[in-house]
Order: sequence, then structure tokens, then C-alpha cells
Amino acid sequence: MTLFHRLGLAAPIAQALAEEKYITPTPIQTEAIPHVLAGRDLVGVAQTGTGKTAAFALPILHHLVSRRFRPERRHCRVLVLSPTRELSGQILESFKTYGRHVRPTVALVIGGVPINRQVRALSNGVDVLVATPGRLLDLMQSQAVKLDRVEVLVLDEADRMLDMGFIHDIRAIVAKLPAERQTLFFSATMPDEIEKLAAKLLRDPIRVAVTPSAKTADRINQRVIHVDRNGKNALLAEVLRDEATGRTLVFTRTKRGADRVVKSLASAGIHAEAIHGNKSQNQRERVLASFREGRLRTLIATDIAARGIDVDGITHVVNFDLPNIADSYVHRIGRTARAGAEGIAISFCDHEERAYLRDIEKLIRAPIEATDRRGNSQPRPQQAFQPHEQHRPHGSHQKKKHHRSRNHRGGEQGNGHHAHGRPAHGEGRPQTRSAGEQSVPRESHRGTDLNGVAFLHRKRDHRAAHGRSDGRTDGPNGARRHSR
Ligand code: AMP
Repeated sequence: MTLFHRLGLAAPIAQALAEEKYITPTPIQTEAIPHVLAGRDLVGVAQTGTGKTAAFALPILHHLVSRRFRPERRHCRVLVLSPTRELSGQILESFKTYGRHVRPTVALVIGGVPINRQVRALSNGVDVLVATPGRLLDLMQSQAVKLDRVEVLVLDEADRMLDMGFIHDIRAIVAKLPAERQTLFFSATMPDEIEKLAAKLLRDPIRVAVTPSAKTADRINQRVIHVDRNGKNALLAEVLRDEATGRTLVFTRTKRGADRVVKSLASAGIHAEAIHGNKSQNQRERVLASFREGRLRTLIATDIAARGIDVDGITHVVNFDLPNIADSYVHRIGRTARAGAEGIAISFCDHEERAYLRDIEKLIRAPIEATDRRGNSQPRPQQAFQPHEQHRPHGSHQKKKHHRSRNHRGGEQGNGHHAHGRPAHGEGRPQTRSAGEQSVPRESHRGTDLNGVAFLHRKRDHRAAHGRSDGRTDGPNGARRHSR
């Protein structure tokens, strides 16, 4: 096994890693660090949880140690762009942690907090600037920061940046960077648009891909529970009470949904808090800190808010709503089983989410063990790939019924920036959920359920008859994404 000292990182960095008890580099670190140290551009196909932050932060710190000089006023030497405030904050913390003996000057530029402090932080110049694109553009426009001396550019979670409509901002930022630079480009997925963007930004890049979907999934016990929509709240309370849940992250599709779950759990006597884009930065930080420190056991989050959450020791991820984009499922469950640990992912699937489940199973190339908790029926495992459904032409139902255009994805802006007509915080139509919660029978029996299939088809017919074809993506609509 490769150990960190074999990578030849400068002594102050190696010391910090030893203090952090990092002994073995993760695969992305083993593969990427030597190339980055050699000055190569890099495309890293890796998700959060793989150790990708250190994969770029460590060689960058090494670069700063090897070439020490003061950055010019209002300039930065390293620019890291990330889609959300939380992720940006985590990246900055990583630079501080790994660089505690290097002591680079750092600044964080994100929306939702006063700009003046950021202007001041940049006035003397910094080694490392971590930024969300919108706020950075504001600061560039007011000449508070200049990028013509950037030596290293990192684009983190490029696919998510594109999803969030940051492509124009990124282009505008990159236009101000010197052509002579090192560029490190990380993305969990590499759809065509991302490949195109990478081809424009990078020069003869090394490509490093780790396959955490399979690797992470191997260490995660995944289960799906079929449940009626209005039975989800009671089921969540039951899971939180009965499973040996430790630190648990619960995902909802919308911000409102997250708040509703908090309320419903409170009425069941379970304390939880929500983190999402409508909360102030202070609130988010407070909630995250208590989750990280173990004072808060259950955190409810939307996808975007959770994107930057870097908390180890999450034992359970619960998908209260299934994500309508299969990749998000992999991102979500990757929150548990971090850095080699094991974890449990439980997904609630109501009848309207069945198509999402099929997409997810296709992506992870495996059926997920399922139990049925619909109605008052006895729980029973289901065949994850229903024979009826396999015979349907690929995607024919779901593509029509669920507009899977990225424009309709749930989500929220990461930086509170209003440029280009993007709202700072968006939330679409709230989910309808009946007030009365059904009591859910406890899991006891097991058997094969084929009735579920008939049920599902009836419901589809009903949906078709009522013209329900919106895929229930309760997040902000396409208006906020201007380029897709
Ligand atoms: P990331 O994918 O960058 O979000 O990192 C995932 C988690 O793994 C973070 O909590 C890191 O602190 C941790 N981590 C990263 N690299 C290592 C390593 N080589 N050994 C142990 N933990 C690590």
C-alpha cells in the first residue's frame, strides 16, 4: 500500500497529515497527487467522500511551500471554485487543516454574508481563495480581486456547477485568468457538456477516475421501503426509534419538505433540525456544528444544502424523498460510509417515485433490497426489478411521465447571487401530503409481493387520466437556470 510519505509532500504537510491520522492515501489521492505535483492539468472523476479535496489541496500546499512569495494586493495565487457555500467552507477548512504548518493566507468568498469583510480579506492578497462563482464575479466587477496572477485553478463539483446554472459565471471568471496556469477539474459525473467544458479549460490533462458508486455502494447496506406518501412521516419516526441509528442525515427534495419533516418528528418527540438555502448562514453553521459534534443526531437536508457537508461518522442516510436524478442518490448515500467506514442507506419510495427508483437501480447496476409498507399491509420484500417493468421499452414510461430535464430539478442556489435573473433562494410548489399520518405496521413478515405491480399500474393509469405528468419535482423551476 502506498503511504503518504512516498508521495514526497513537503514536511509541514506530512506533519499535518500525521496529526490528522491520515496514513494511507485514498485511490484518487494516490493517482492524482503525483501528477499534480508534476504540474499537470487534471480531470478527476470523483465524488465527495473519496478524499478528492485532499487530492488537490495537498499538492497545492506543496506548491505554495516550494515557491513562497507574498501574493500581490487584491490578487490570489490559487483559486478554488465550488458550487455551494457549505462546500466552499469545507474546502477552506481542509486547506487550513492540511496547511496548519504551512500557514497559507486564505479567504472565503461566498454569497449570503456581508461583502465588505471579503473585500478587506482580499485587500492584501491571499494565497488561496475559495469562492462560489456569483459572489466572486461581484468582487471582480468592483475590482476587489484580480485573477491575472492565478497559478492554480481548481473547479470542484463541475457537474453540479453546471446544474446550478453557473456556466456563464465560470466562463466569465476563466476569461480573466492567465492562460499559463495549472487547472484541476473535479466532477462526479462527466456528461457531454462537462467534457466540453473540461476540453476548453484544460491543457493535455491527466485523467483520473475513481468509481465510488460501486466502491461506496459496496460498503453501504442499501434498502428501499415502499410506502404511501402520507405514511412517510410515521415511517421515519419509526426508523429513527427502532433502527440503531447514530448520526443520521435525512434527505428531502424541497426546503419546505425538510421543515415539515422537522415538525412532524417533533410531534413524535424526536428532535431534528433542517439545513437548507432558506436558513441564514449562521443558522446553517450552528446546525452543522452541532451535527458534527454529535449534539444533534438527526439532520434534515436538501441535496444542495447537503452537498458540502463533510461530516464523518454518519451511520444512516435516509432518503425521505427519492431524488429524481439518479446521480444524486449516489451522492446522498455517499455521505455515509466515508473514508472506509460502513453505512446504511434507507430510501422511502412512494408510488410516484417508482420511476426514480428504476433509474437509480440502473445507475448502480443492482437491485436494492425492498420491503413493502404501503397501506396497512404486512411488510414484505419486493422484487426490485419487476418482470412487467423490464419488458417495457427502456425509459418509455418515465421519460414521458417524469420530465427529467435538469431544469426541473429540485435545488437551491448556493451563493445567494441574483445575477442573470437567478433567484437567491427558490422553492417550487410544496408537496401535498395529507395531514393525517397512517400508522405503519412493524416489519415482521416476509414474502413475495406481486400485487404491488398491479397496484402500480393502476396508479399510473390514474395519473395519466388526470394529466399528472410533471414528475413532481418540487424544487425551483427552469427559470433560475438560464443556460440549459
Ligand atoms: P472528500 O471526498 O474530500 O470530501 O473527503 C472525504 C472525507 O475523507 C473527509 O472527511 C476527509 O477528512 C477524509 N479523508 C480524506 N483523505 C483521507 C485519508 N487519506 N485518510 C483518511 N481520511 C481521509
